[in-house]
Amino acid sequence: MTDRFPDRTNGSRRQWLCAVGVLGFGAVGCNVLHDRSVKTPAHSTGEPTDRLAGTVLAPLPKKPGKYFHRVSQYVFYSDFPLEPTDPLFAELEELPEQIQTELKLPTGSGIVQVFLFEDQEKYEAYIQAHYPKLPIRRAYFFAGQRGTNLPDDLTVCTWIGKHLRTDLRHELTHALLHGVLKAVPLWLDEGIAGVFEQPTRQAGVNASHLEALRSTSFSPNLARLEKLGQVHQMEKPEYQEAWAWVHFLLHSTPANDKILQDYLQALRQNPNPGLLLPKLETVMPEPGKAMLEHLSKLQLPALVVPVAGAR
Ligand SMILES: [Zn+2]
Repeated sequence: MTDRFPDRTNGSRRQWLCAVGVLGFGAVGCNVLHDRSVKTPAHSTGEPTDRLAGTVLAPLPKKPGKYFHRVSQYVFYSDFPLEPTDPLFAELEELPEQIQTELKLPTGSGIVQVFLFEDQEKYEAYIQAHYPKLPIRRAYFFAGQRGTNLPDDLTVCTWIGKHLRTDLRHELTHALLHGVLKAVPLWLDEGIAGVFEQPTRQAGVNASHLEALRSTSFSPNLARLEKLGQVHQMEKPEYQEAWAWVHFLLHSTPANDKILQDYLQALRQNPNPGLLLPKLETVMPEPGKAMLEHLSKLQLPALVVPVAGAR
């Protein structure tokens, strides 16, 4: 497979990625409310729906593609040379194994194509031209029909900025989940992505979410969360609560961890395995109260001190 993706990078624009790898948590803390997985629209081949035959229009913006670099099961495309030794590539290479270890899921074998736009302007122009009905968000994950072998089966689009590390971890987590599960409930999809978007050393603690939940009269309601099925229903509070439930399940007790793992294993076989809350209620009388107790014990991650040379 390697020879299908020869490394054509040449090392210019040094450390373009590591600039985002050393930001403090305040900068990379999650304000990622942007990117619920969306099905690839039917016009994803590049023709907007209102394009008229015979009408001369300006060429549609294209995805980056001058350079590419493969890391694990990801292929990164850009219009500028990538630095293969950038620490962020190494970090992302470890993400599938981290998910495999913590969620007891296989890593999957599908290729995830990651299109890195040079700046926000180019990225937004592309999204608006090709997906005019989508709201502009910092990043998008597109999941095609499984088994179609379409080149855009698992695709991430984003742009280079200070959010890059968090957004790539977040979106690639979506991609890895959708690569091995038959379905991913919306709240669980965003909750797991909210945990794994954080650097490994933070053990999934999302400082931004945790602080927000502690500063409000937060009342957990997993029953409500599990009913949400539309992207527009997920606002900041829902992202925060989804993260909290997943962190509680994953990092509180082995029994809770097993409930999550069993649920994920069920989703590998069945896209509709039922709700999670009833399963939780069989082992604890008040899941919401237990989750709040878990949050109260969490420590906010320490600030990361930027290293010399970071932009
Ligand atoms: Zn997301």
